[in-house]
Amino acid sequence: MIEVLFLGTAASTPSRKKSLPCVAAKHGGDVLLFDCGEGTQRQLMISPFSFMKIRAIFLTHLHGDHIMGVPGLLQTMGLSGRKDPVFVHGPKGTASSIGMLMDSCEGEIQYPIVVEEAEPGFVFKGKGYSVTAVGSDHGTASLAYAMEEESLPGKINRRKAESLGLEPKDLALIKDGITVKGVTPETVTGPVRRGAKVVISGDTRPCESVREAASGADMLIHEATFMAESAELAEAHMHSTALQAAGIAKASEVGMLVLVHISNRYEDLSLPEEEARSIFPNTVAARDMDMYQVSATSIRSV
Ligand SMILES: [Zn+2]
Ligand SMILES: [Zn+2]
Repeated sequence: MIEVLFLGTAASTPSRKKSLPCVAAKHGGDVLLFDCGEGTQRQLMISPFSFMKIRAIFLTHLHGDHIMGVPGLLQTMGLSGRKDPVFVHGPKGTASSIGMLMDSCEGEIQYPIVVEEAEPGFVFKGKGYSVTAVGSDHGTASLAYAMEEESLPGKINRRKAESLGLEPKDLALIKDGITVKGVTPETVTGPVRRGAKVVISGDTRPCESVREAASGADMLIHEATFMAESAELAEAHMHSTALQAAGIAKASEVGMLVLVHISNRYEDLSLPEEEARSIFPNTVAARDMDMYQVSATSIRSV
């Protein structure tokens, strides 16, 4: 299960209700951040997620609204006694941007900050999950990301195993793929259980690579800076409309679409939400602090 927490859902500038872009995803003991807008550390502190559990920060691109939260957050972790490394990944240019931001602030940091630029296809491996970088189209070096939970082996049908003469001690061998007393593991083991998949578009025009990466995802988190009435503006600024995001969700057959990065001009979020629902009904526009538990079989709002 992946827990997804929308720490900041604004586009470009914050508002009274919205903090700058950041989606946090928790799997096991790891918290991952996708973008880290200014104010992210404060949002984390009033959220159920611990900022000390952050293992990696994935930047979708280097526009200021998406990265200005990095130095403050990294300093606070240092002041709080962090020793474990933090990984920062992003498109070309990330190393110099983050390097300059960190160099311009005084204050020592006593833990390793590992900054590594990524190309589409780059894979970050965590315990029980992975994050793959995906190409996107925002007029600057940019990436989307696909986070996937590893699949789990099928469950053993204990009743069937027993009826075939297996004893509890035999089941460990069956789990290891060994045939016991003539009973093959396949006979008493259910199908492999696939893990959850969440795709984060970052800022982008609608693009084929995100559509492809989102194929079969349980949740697609897609930017929807504008509504269809401003499609020309969206095109000019390399953003998407709510309708276009819904088109991607529909084509990729995702389970649920969550719209983020909606321009402050749309104060009533139900408007872009309704627009997207006209072609992809299972859509919500995220509000700051909305949280979901995403598994391969269900998505629960918590
Ligand atoms: Zn942005
Ligand atoms: Zn941008």
